Amino acid sequence: MPPVSPAMEISYEPPWISVPSAPPAPPEDAHPPGPAPAGDRRPAPARQRRALARRRFRAGAERGAVGRVPAVRQVRRLVVPVGALNPDAVRGRIVAAGAEMYDGVVSILDDRIADVIPFAEWVAAHPDSQTPEFQGTILPGLVDIHNHGGYGNRFDTVDPDEARRAAEFHHRRGTTTLLASVVTAPGDEMVAQVAMLRGLAEDGTIGGIHAEGPFLAEARCGAQDPRYLCDPDPELTERLLTAAGGQLRVMTLAPERVGYDKVAQRLSDSGVVVSLGHSDTEFPRFRAALRPNGFGSLVTHLANGMPPLHHRRPGPVAAGLVAAGDGDAIVELIGDGVHIDSGFGELVFATAPGRVALITDAMQAAGMPDGEYVLGPQQVTVTDGVARIANGSIAGGTSTLLDGVRWAALECGVPLRDAVCAASSVPAQAIGLTGVGDLRTGLFADLIVVDRDLRLRRVLRRGEWLS
Ligand SMILES: [Zn+2]
Repeated sequence: MPPVSPAMEISYEPPWISVPSAPPAPPEDAHPPGPAPAGDRRPAPARQRRALARRRFRAGAERGAVGRVPAVRQVRRLVVPVGALNPDAVRGRIVAAGAEMYDGVVSILDDRIADVIPFAEWVAAHPDSQTPEFQGTILPGLVDIHNHGGYGNRFDTVDPDEARRAAEFHHRRGTTTLLASVVTAPGDEMVAQVAMLRGLAEDGTIGGIHAEGPFLAEARCGAQDPRYLCDPDPELTERLLTAAGGQLRVMTLAPERVGYDKVAQRLSDSGVVVSLGHSDTEFPRFRAALRPNGFGSLVTHLANGMPPLHHRRPGPVAAGLVAAGDGDAIVELIGDGVHIDSGFGELVFATAPGRVALITDAMQAAGMPDGEYVLGPQQVTVTDGVARIANGSIAGGTSTLLDGVRWAALECGVPLRDAVCAASSVPAQAIGLTGVGDLRTGLFADLIVVDRDLRLRRVLRRGEWLS
């Protein structure tokens, strides 16, 4: 921590404007990782594609392809008394939706971001302070909008301590904001789980609740227990809304279910994001259920829990991508390298730039060894890190969201900033969270520091270092 300077200046102007000037050469830490590690046994095409993606990643970094860089600003300054300061200043390469620079400083005031400025500007403003050390690459705290648990703990529980442990596991792995997802179960159980999670949302442990079911298609149930799937039921919907007390942020529905329109409208009127998924319908119905004509604005784990993309039967995958490309929807993508091939990941990012939200769909086994686990009412076996129920369906993920950023950047060849936004600003936007997902003045002081291989070094959540 640098010593406190006599006063700290906090900008209240819009943080960045776009200027087409060349950025300075990156510090050594900004360079991408080297070649694939020895012992990679992937099939040759996948290896070649990954090598190509890494070459693109490296070329982008060396060209300085960083998008917007900060302009020298003429801003109004507010001088804050020394006593009011938490003098944390975190320095590094900054990659976020609202700021990108090779050497910048994020200043923290209590639980908020006070400012994000180039290092040279910080030095000029703090002539008497010890300069902060360059720590690595600074990203916004990640935002996971589809997460069932981790480190042996579940969100589909009525035990708040268990749910808190699941959230804290992901916080410490860099996901500073997450929705707790509950899966299909008997209605009374889902209502009780949502009522418990409400408390965790109200105290800031989680960012809200996602109900994945029970109004889903049996033919595409995946790991959702088919015994409890049903048509959209207004009465159960009311019970869930009441139990959540305003903290239900997303509900996944299959649009072909009888009664979909009425329940989707009720949810939408209550401020709940309608997400389409676990659906077996055709292109026209799925597309029509998304904006602008439908209530849906999100697609639950695109390609998983729906028929595969086919050129004569395009189905929900094509409909979701078209809607995302039109700016009418955001598509979730499980970035764990198991649910989705990296080539399909490339396709999705190319088709819907800025409209892809990386998720983990993590379950109890995330961060745990292979073994036997539970997802909702179902038993799950994890082998080589892949979770499956008895019929072989993949049952949620075992990764963290930072793994997803690494997968998108290094295996799909997505520009680093786009990969970061897909795990921060885009998911935050998808569910209407305005205080997280970026590095900008006034947002929560949530950030992570990673090394050149995008491995986690430190996590700051609400202004507190967790590691
Ligand atoms: Zn899920």
